[in-house]
Amino acid sequence: MKLTFPGLMLITMLCMLSLSVAAADKTPMKAMLLTGQNNHNWQLSSPILKTIIEDTGLFIVDTVEAPPEGGDFSGFSPVFSDYAVVVLDYNGDDWPEKTREDFLTYVQEGGGVVVYHAADNAFPEWPEFNEIIGLGGWGNRTEKHGPYVRWEEGHLVYDMSPGPGGAHGKQHQFVVTHRDTEHPVTRGLPETWLHAQDELYHHLRGPAKNLHVLATAWSDPETGGTGNHEPILFTVSYGKGRMFQTALGHAGNEAPPPAMQCAGFIVTLQRGTEWAATGEVTQEVPVDFPTETQVQLRPKFKKDSSAAQTEAVKEDSTQ
Ligand code: ZN
Repeated sequence: MKLTFPGLMLITMLCMLSLSVAAADKTPMKAMLLTGQNNHNWQLSSPILKTIIEDTGLFIVDTVEAPPEGGDFSGFSPVFSDYAVVVLDYNGDDWPEKTREDFLTYVQEGGGVVVYHAADNAFPEWPEFNEIIGLGGWGNRTEKHGPYVRWEEGHLVYDMSPGPGGAHGKQHQFVVTHRDTEHPVTRGLPETWLHAQDELYHHLRGPAKNLHVLATAWSDPETGGTGNHEPILFTVSYGKGRMFQTALGHAGNEAPPPAMQCAGFIVTLQRGTEWAATGEVTQEVPVDFPTETQVQLRPKFKKDSSAAQTEAVKEDSTQ
């Protein structure tokens, strides 16, 4: 075939177009990590969350620190709409009215939200926030905020019994069970896996509208739990927006926190963050995802060190 000059031009242009499409695919999305107040050690957890989310290669994370407790919030006005997803590691003072409105507009118009651990304690008196997070705890939450939700015999039970929302027993390792194995966040992952030592939140309650539970954990009365299968990973749709919540990942004074090193916590958070941002998950299932009997830690929160560690463990087991 003889190529004419216009033909060559066309091929060149098509090549450039496909290259630019490939490059566009790899442009990281912007994620906002909102922190600055928490009853937990946010100074410890927030850099770890940034490491975990950036380790996907999908996001650049900007950390936004709210003013300290009792501080001046008059200038606190993050531009949520600049971001594909907002990750909340915040449990503290109320935001100004305009900031709240901006946040609601952002979610209604399709913004992604990730609620991490005690961020579900925030804003008990903000009804729309409670709708977005689906379930929350503490902050004097009661039956007025919505039902307790638990998993029983293959479906969710909404329990309007009176009582406080949010508690946990003693920290321990526990098995997480996926209740939807076809959702983008959980698809391809082991259905059950052993989580590293953590708090197991129970008796969360909230509006639970458009709530979809991805995973539960059995709350053992012997460690101070309820004897129920408690929601641990779940989503809510709000307007055009998507919320992913992980109740896991307690960060206290122990550094590095075991719960945040767990590959199961890390990978479900990474996948949940991508899903909240785009509605899809493109991440591969890692080799070091925990099994039902074996906790897997990533001491530096990144997949490289853990992959090496997993291989080392495998070599050991063959000797
Ligand atoms: Zn905690």
